[in-house]
Amino acid sequence: MKILLASSEVYPYSKTGGLADMVGALAVALANAGHEARVVTPLYRGIREKFPALRKVDWYFNLPIGLRWVPAELWELEVARGLKIYFIDQPSYFDRFGIYQENHVSYADNDERYIFFSKCVAHLARYLPWRPDVIHVHDWQTGLVPALVKHQKSEGWENPPSTCLTIHNLAYQGVFPEEAFALTNLPASLFNTEGAEFFGLLNCLKAGIAYADFITTVSPRYAREITTEESGCGLDGLLRRRQKHLVGILNGVDYGEWNTTRNPHLPKPYSVGRMAGKKNNKLDLQKLVGLPVDESVPLFGTISRLAEQKGVDIQLGALSEMLNTNMQFVLLGSGSPEYERGYRDLARQFPSKVAIQFGYDETLAHRIEAGCDFFLMPSRFEPCGLNQMYSLRYGTIPIVRATGGLDDSVIDWTQNPRLATGIKFFEYNSRSLAKAIRKALVLFNQPKLFQICRRNAMKADFSWERTVHNYVSVYEKCRQLEKIN
Ligand code: ADP
Repeated sequence: MKILLASSEVYPYSKTGGLADMVGALAVALANAGHEARVVTPLYRGIREKFPALRKVDWYFNLPIGLRWVPAELWELEVARGLKIYFIDQPSYFDRFGIYQENHVSYADNDERYIFFSKCVAHLARYLPWRPDVIHVHDWQTGLVPALVKHQKSEGWENPPSTCLTIHNLAYQGVFPEEAFALTNLPASLFNTEGAEFFGLLNCLKAGIAYADFITTVSPRYAREITTEESGCGLDGLLRRRQKHLVGILNGVDYGEWNTTRNPHLPKPYSVGRMAGKKNNKLDLQKLVGLPVDESVPLFGTISRLAEQKGVDIQLGALSEMLNTNMQFVLLGSGSPEYERGYRDLARQFPSKVAIQFGYDETLAHRIEAGCDFFLMPSRFEPCGLNQMYSLRYGTIPIVRATGGLDDSVIDWTQNPRLATGIKFFEYNSRSLAKAIRKALVLFNQPKLFQICRRNAMKADFSWERTVHNYVSVYEKCRQLEKIN
């Protein structure tokens, strides 16, 4: 099958979170499974320098954005057999310091930037000599693509590709003032409560949910949660109406990137049968972040965007109670200044037990995953979550709230003592999280049980090879639906 994946971020070219990891890895997995996968993404600042093999395609185009015409150029990178990446080059939109924001402030023209990008995606799908069977779009930034395809079909585009939308996080919908709709050049008939309109505003994700042939989200539990009023972010009604065409597929992990045996980021390799290296990684990490170097102290870690979703408030509450016991905590995060302040205060309160690092640091992320004994992920909600799956492979026991993909990917002792891979808690409050940390401390002091849990965790397999066929069946369903329509 020929699949065009469209995303505002794709690892290793750009990344702010799990979306980039997922699209990058899915594209590779599709190509490895014998399909033709191509990816289209913006050419952000620095990509060309970092990937000198990028080649300019001899193809220029102009697309209307409201009353203006905006030019674009195309670059491509042949990654492997069956896999090519297209980059949309429009410097005034994409050659900027950040991807979506600068100094914690979103770019004021994000509507225009991603409406333009969505138009480029539809344009490529229509006019490239390589014709995709399916366009697979991701999140609000490409949410308008299905509407654009539908509209162009009504205007004479014969046999357009089917469209599939993946929702990585329903909390981010790309909502803009009504005037932004004029930039799409779509007919006003699509701006209605069953389409792109959301209480008088333009909602890009809603348009995707309304017009895509099929919708997926990144875990089975999250697929159920988003159809409820409590977790539906205002779109649960529409999602319930589209439930027949909505499925949850747990994200896979790119074990080529996230492994403990051949990993340039890690000081020492280790594996289920050779765990000595894990201890060395712990001691190295303690030294690196300035904590007392001591194997016998349980070390907890978190790598996260510092956003409300991630449970920062209950984590700060639980840690300020639990750090009075014999434990250490290391954080790598970036996000809200207010949450950064909270962690700084915690570090001041427990200077010999807490190490914090703000910013984005890939090597440190691997070293924390490898060096810690436990990984904390107390999310308020979590569509899938990748870090808990990375933790499992790294033998770092995840402590998670039982929500979304966290619930789907971790097995708690109470669910199955033989197969347990982590610790779950249910209530969203500091007390429940503190209790889960206390359980972890008990486990740490029972080496045999701890070892069993670690072994189970490291053996859990969330590889894309096991998951990719689920997407292929969705693409096949999309094709059938397109034929019926
Ligand atoms: P989300 O997409 O909601 O941010 P996920 O757990 O799905 O959360 O994915 C987060 C990804 O981003 C992981 O690959 C994680 O390692 C990475 N990440 C998050 N924050 C940082 C950071 N400060 N430095 C390095 N990597 C980070």
